[in-house]
Formats: sequence, structure tokens, C-alpha cells
Amino acid sequence: MERKLTCIICPLGCDLTVQVEDKKVLDVQGHTCPRGKKYAESECTNPQRTITSTVKCNDGSLVSVKTDKPIPKEKMIECMEAINNAVATLPVSIGDVIIEDVFGSNIVATQNKK
Ligand code: SF4
Repeated sequence: MERKLTCIICPLGCDLTVQVEDKKVLDVQGHTCPRGKKYAESECTNPQRTITSTVKCNDGSLVSVKTDKPIPKEKMIECMEAINNAVATLPVSIGDVIIEDVFGSNIVATQNKK
């Protein structure tokens, strides 16, 4: 089976053509650097995503957060439910863990907030 992808690793957005059989990548064409080939292989066998969002704080404001490593794409909705149900206690500093171990990733603050 042939899959057409756009590489999302850098702004160049190379068009990738991937030959896949039984969830095995046989060939990748169209990448202009090794990162594109790695992305295509990951996307066709075990797609991952980094989540960015906001968490409610105990004063009613919001603090921006992200996963500290990519999580399986199929777990994105469950990850967002965990983020939506969380409440961060102020003060918060960049890198503070707001939620531990959500599908192998911590949800960490990406801004300072007093
Ligand atoms: S293949 Fe390389 S150059 Fe092309 S979009 Fe991906 S990372 Fe960028």
C-alpha cells in the first residue's frame, strides 16, 4: 500500500511517499533529510503527537502546558480529558509537572504564573 504524507518536522513540509505492507515500511521517497524518513516510519507504524494545551489554575486563570514527550496518537482524546480535569495550584514555573505519567509523558507547564 502506498501512503502520501507531508513531513511536519520542519517548515519545508516535504511530500513523502511511503510503501507500507503489514505495518512494515518498505520504502520512503521524497524526504530531503534523514529526519523525514524517520518521521514517515514512525507515522506509519506508531504515530506519536506532542500535545499543547492549557490547564485551569486554582484562581480561575489558565496556564499553558504540553506533554514532555510525544504520546501515542490514539491516546490524544484521553490525554485531553486528563488535562481538562486538572487544576494547577499556583505559583507555577516553567517545567513544573502539572500531571504525572499520562500515557508515559508528564504534562508540564510552559509558562511562569504567580
Ligand atoms: S524531510 Fe527533512 S527537510 Fe523535509 S520537511 Fe522533513 S525534516 Fe524538513
